[in-house]
Amino acid sequence: MKIVQVGDPVLRQTGRTLTKEEIRSREIQDLIAAMRETMYDAPGVGLAAPQIGLSIQLAVIEDKPEYVKEAPPGFLKERERKPVTFHVIINPKLTLSEGERVSFYEGCLSLTGFTAVVPRARSVRVECLDHRGEPRTIEASGWYARILQHEIDHLNGTVYIDRMHSRTFSTTDGFNAFWKDKSVAEVKRLLDWER
Ligand code: ZN
Repeated sequence: MKIVQVGDPVLRQTGRTLTKEEIRSREIQDLIAAMRETMYDAPGVGLAAPQIGLSIQLAVIEDKPEYVKEAPPGFLKERERKPVTFHVIINPKLTLSEGERVSFYEGCLSLTGFTAVVPRARSVRVECLDHRGEPRTIEASGWYARILQHEIDHLNGTVYIDRMHSRTFSTTDGFNAFWKDKSVAEVKRLLDWER
């Protein structure tokens, strides 16, 4: 499936919710399988239905160990990034935890070639339906909480550029050349993103 890029109005619409009957239909089950393959091909750790042009409340998520096998342990520890098995979230209700916000570089398959620092809640609670239409509650923290916030934003017409520290916005080439090896604290100091 083709992933739509920013500028397409579908990325700015709020997706409609799905009924349990719809979720169990052949059509939605086939859609989930196709979105899973599209996410793997990209590759990405999440894909929301609006990103393939469908304005519905459905996203797929998986953070595979192989995606970070070359990352230094300190990098993963700082981001609290651990593998997440494949799952589907439908009609999600997001609750952000009180308190701590954490800022890291983030990218999006609908903003190919760009990245920016995005502040997010460190932990969240998500109430949603799973791929069978059964209720599910997810308590997440660290990188998984960031993925959930990013994907649920897509279902509500929001993309990371709405939340980013805009002075950190960069091409991925620029990021690799100038910012990749710096700590977020150093990036904050150098770019003075709260000025
Ligand atoms: Zn995205």
